Order: sequence, then structure tokens, then C-alpha cells
Amino acid sequence: MLRPLLTTAAVLLTLTACNRGQTAPGTPPPAAAPDDAPVGERLNLSEDEWKKRLTPEQFHILREEGTERAFTGHLHDHHGDGIYRCAACGAPLFDSKTKFDSGTGWPSYYQPIEKGRVAEKKDTKYGMVRVEVECARCGGHLGHVFTDGPAPTGLRYCINSASLSFQPRAEVGKGKAKK
Ligand SMILES: [Zn+2]
Repeated sequence: MLRPLLTTAAVLLTLTACNRGQTAPGTPPPAAAPDDAPVGERLNLSEDEWKKRLTPEQFHILREEGTERAFTGHLHDHHGDGIYRCAACGAPLFDSKTKFDSGTGWPSYYQPIEKGRVAEKKDTKYGMVRVEVECARCGGHLGHVFTDGPAPTGLRYCINSASLSFQPRAEVGKGKAKK
């Protein structure tokens, strides 16, 4: 009698755990794809190597901390279902489920796709104190994070379109990610 009872209990526990993982508010979405470089792995290339990989606009924004003009990027009014990757190294950065229309003219998200994917650092350029965000894998400049975003985080990750590439959800995990 004991064994079936234990099995039932184990199944129930597993189900409960799964449900909790899916419904907890504010829980970051799971890692984008099993073949992605793990959180914490760095990609260090020389500036010459980046120049070969990136367009002049991407290089200016990602490697020289530039900013594209508002409403000019290819993703500020983009509403596809999928994930947004670093245009330089392909690391997953944001999920479309957290994208919102901020009206600023830049793609805006209320949280990164996963803890450890987006790094923050203080930016005091132009006489302002802002928090710069960059790709934690390659150090590419993405944009800034502000504290006037919507629930559940109250954060607004204001990102340059040129720093991102979009991958439809159906293609996630099928080995098409740029490495
Ligand atoms: Zn990157």
C-alpha cells in the first residue's frame, strides 16, 4: 500500500511545483533556448573584429555607446511574438511578453529575459546620472534603464533597435541563433 501512495504524492508534488513556476507573478521567463551560451559566459572580441561583424550603425551604438534617433529603429513599433537577442553576439536579452509601448520611440521592456543576461552600470555622460544597460556576454551597449516603467517591475529598459535582433518564437531553440 505504501508504494502507490508515495508515487501519488510525488506526482502531486511535481504538478504543484510546475504550476507554481508558471503562475508566480514577476517570475522571469525561462532561458530562451537550451543551445544558448550559458549565463556568465563572456565573449571578448577586439574592436577590429566587432567592426567586421557589425554594420557601421551597430558598431557606433553597441561599441561606442551611441543612441539611434527616436522612432527611426526597426523595432520600436514591432509587435512579434518571440525573443530579442543581442545584435552583436546573439545572447537572449528580452522576451516580447515584456515589451510595452512606451511612446518614446525606442523598444521598451519591463524586465530582461533572465537574470544575468543584462548588466547595469552608472552613466554620468551629458551631465545626467543614468543607468546604462549592456549585454552581459559581450559588453555591447544596449540603452538605459529608468524607474518609470509599468507593473510588475516599475522598470523601463529603453533599448536601441540597432542593438537587437528579433527571433520568432517558433524558431527559438532550433539552432538558428547567431553565435
Ligand atoms: Zn552581446
